[in-house]
Order: sequence, then C-alpha cells, then structure tokens
Amino acid sequence: MARKTVLVCDSCGNEVEEAKGAVMRVTYTDARRGAKQADLCDACAGRTPGRAVARRGRKPKSATTG
Ligand SMILES: [Zn+2]
Repeated sequence: MARKTVLVCDSCGNEVEEAKGAVMRVTYTDARRGAKQADLCDACAGRTPGRAVARRGRKPKSATTG
C-alpha cells in the first residue's frame, strides 16, 4: 500500500499540495554548522527573503551589455 506522505508547511503548518510549495534550504558558510531546510507552502515561500536565482545552464541575456 502506497501511503501518501503529506507535506506540511514548516512555517504555517498548512498542508502543502503535491507539485506545490517550495523547499527553502539554508546552508551556513561555516560548514560545521551544516544546513537546514524547510518545506514551505506557496504563500509562505513568497514571504521569505531572497531573490530569484537563474536556472543553471542558461545565462540571462539581458544582464549587461558589453
Ligand atoms: Zn505556509
């Protein structure tokens, strides 16, 4: 029996639907501190600090000219 794992937002506690939400990963500069991550629903993910990161393998064309 395949039991569906329910993902719960680490911020607000709401259930995160499949194919929704986000994982926020924090990696400390000091490697000894390791890393931590949080599962977030769409709403909470939008409230986190940070900026959009370009996907790998493709450079933004309109960054700078010259
Ligand atoms: Zn949430």
